[in-house]
Amino acid sequence: KFNFSAGPAGLPDAVLAQAQEELLDWHGKGLSIMEMSHRSKEFVSVAETAEQDLRELMGIGDNYKVLFLQGGATTQFSMIPMNLLRGKSSADYINTGIWSKKAIKEAARYCEVNVAGSSEANGFTAVPSQDELKLNPEAAYLHYTPNETIGGLEFDYIPQSDVPLVADLSSTILSRPLDVDKFGLIYAGAQKNIGPAGLTVVIVREDLLGGVIENAPTMFDYKVHAEADSMLNTPPTFGWYLAGLVFKWLKDQGGVEAMAAMNQRKAEKLYAAIDGSDFYGNPMALNNRSWMNVPFTLADDALDKVFLEKAEEVGLLNLKGHRSVGGMRASIYNAVPEAAVDALIDFMQTFEKEHA
Ligand code: PLP
Repeated sequence: KFNFSAGPAGLPDAVLAQAQEELLDWHGKGLSIMEMSHRSKEFVSVAETAEQDLRELMGIGDNYKVLFLQGGATTQFSMIPMNLLRGKSSADYINTGIWSKKAIKEAARYCEVNVAGSSEANGFTAVPSQDELKLNPEAAYLHYTPNETIGGLEFDYIPQSDVPLVADLSSTILSRPLDVDKFGLIYAGAQKNIGPAGLTVVIVREDLLGGVIENAPTMFDYKVHAEADSMLNTPPTFGWYLAGLVFKWLKDQGGVEAMAAMNQRKAEKLYAAIDGSDFYGNPMALNNRSWMNVPFTLADDALDKVFLEKAEEVGLLNLKGHRSVGGMRASIYNAVPEAAVDALIDFMQTFEKEHA
């Protein structure tokens, strides 16, 4: 079966098999890793190796802290303004869809939000260009969502600003190389390209630590987490361990360069199949089409239900679009093999012949 879920998404079979093998007896210890203290030397070594592997995969410099937190990307929507405003009263946000809007709504509880650019006028089918951004030089930071998971809208450039750049990389982290040095802070919920839900990765430049608002709960202060090596309290140990297995798997596959080549091929052939037919459609601007989340509609939405049923019958799972937009969505993260996309295209072509 092939899993096109937007998240929690599929994990590589090899990772699940290893986790299964180690579940009852991790490295001869007679216990599962999830049954050990987070302060044990065994778990500390798992945690440190995972961080090291992520640093290598992404080329993260020593001037960044890597945090393994809880609360999902949604908690970051508040932690970011709480920590990065540092006495300033406003922040720049780019609005390219549902996740940007949620980040904006949360930030507006703490500061004035300047919507520096928006895709609203084009129905969220294209991102604003660098020239269109109306940046505020007094902003504390600029926040954007490189890939909108629900809309399937992706930036084809990294916005430039004189203030620290903050990115919600939840649905595109590790899908290709990224110049981390361009960012002040990167965050991602794990449940797409990293591991199981319950873990959130935050990569933050050290000079941005230490400015949390007064009376913030301790758990919302990046500096405290950084100083505690993400072990201020009990971290999500099993998720962290599984993320570590995914990072090793990624390295075995050839790292983010190899992922990029495969992900580009997968996305290109799926969009080509959609564009090559009058039966399927995707309205996104060509250079803002997501490599990770490919939404598409059928010519007649009365066929959606039967499309999903027949797809499931042949083992193509979780193709239903988000409840807010309808239609279909194929999420084709790192763990989705090229064969899955080939099978989906075959199925789409057969379905079209039968129903067009
Ligand atoms: N941001 C993006 C781009 C997402 O895709 C998601 C979840 O799908 C979120 C934020 C919210 O993440 P979480 O459920 O971890 O809070």
